Amino acid sequence: MITAPIKRQTKYCQAIEHTLKMLGHATNAELLTSLRKSYPELSATTVHRATTRLALRDSIASAPKALDGSMRYDANMTPHDHFECSSCGLLQDTNVKDKVIPILESSIDGCKVSGQLIITGVCKKCMKE
Ligand SMILES: [Zn+2]
Ligand SMILES: [Zn+2]
Repeated sequence: MITAPIKRQTKYCQAIEHTLKMLGHATNAELLTSLRKSYPELSATTVHRATTRLALRDSIASAPKALDGSMRYDANMTPHDHFECSSCGLLQDTNVKDKVIPILESSIDGCKVSGQLIITGVCKKCMKE
């Protein structure tokens, strides 16, 4: 069957999109771990190909890289800022840009700030540990 690989690709792309929505942000490795529960045959290469395709199609967005430097994806397509835990790598959406940028720009002599903000710190869970 010639159509089988295409169908399988579509199935995985949908599953990946769905899983990313549940996780919010995820690396290929995190997606693989989560998806293997339903698709034990799934390979890292397939996940990598699918996320690359979904990102090209603008079905998923790129999030700030994980602490180990690997690509991380974002289910939220609206541009937004992030809080990142420097201890466990947790990523949380936030939207402070509109409030913070005027203050930042006035503090750097009116130079223009562009792009999304990444605020680093320690998350609640890590603070307790
Ligand atoms: Zn943390
Ligand atoms: Zn995000």
